[in-house]
Formats: sequence, C-alpha cells, structure tokens
Amino acid sequence: MTISPWHHHPRIRLTPQKVAKLFLERHGCCRECGRKLGPSDDYIVEHIIALENGGTNDWDNLGITCLWCKPKKDAEDHATAASTRSKATKHFISKSMRQSKWPSRKFSKRETIE
Ligand SMILES: [Zn+2]
Repeated sequence: MTISPWHHHPRIRLTPQKVAKLFLERHGCCRECGRKLGPSDDYIVEHIIALENGGTNDWDNLGITCLWCKPKKDAEDHATAASTRSKATKHFISKSMRQSKWPSRKFSKRETIE
C-alpha cells in the first residue's frame, strides 16, 4: 500500500544468513538473466518490484541479481518511477496550473493558504 509515488517502504538490511538463505532458495540464479552464480560471484539482493515503485520488503519480493544485470534493472526501475510521478503530477495538477507559473505567487506563502 503505497500512499503516493513519492513515498515508499524503508530499505532494510538483510543479515548475511538471510542473504545465504535467499541465495539457496533461488538456486543461485540471477532473477534477470538466469545466470547461475558461483560462490565467488558478486550479486545483490534486490526488490523484484522496486521500493520506489511500490514494492515491499516481503520475502517474495526479494530476488538476487548479478552485477551485470543490476545497472539495467536500476535504470528500468528509475524510469518507471519517474513516469509514475510524472503521471500523478499530470493527474492532480490541472493543465492551466501547469501552464501558469506554479506555485503562483498568490499561494506561495503559507499564511495565505491557512
Ligand atoms: Zn543477471
């Protein structure tokens, strides 16, 4: 349950034991490319649905991603988040408000709103 595209669940840190558990449960395969990772390969634990896109810290939303796929996934997640924020802005800010200099001078001071 995301309040808005500008809010997201806080990032949590997994203990090494939990990371190992996840690695074994996912059979040591990168979620993005399916590459079988060895014990000496570096990988990250990532959110399948990124936090910034409304993802949670639920176990089912965690996956392992190899370092080759990480930049691509990050870029896609950021692009999705940016697009969602842009859509929300368009939805809640009327066209005329967007066209005028906004926030207008009239509403720029807190006391005038209250
Ligand atoms: Zn990969």
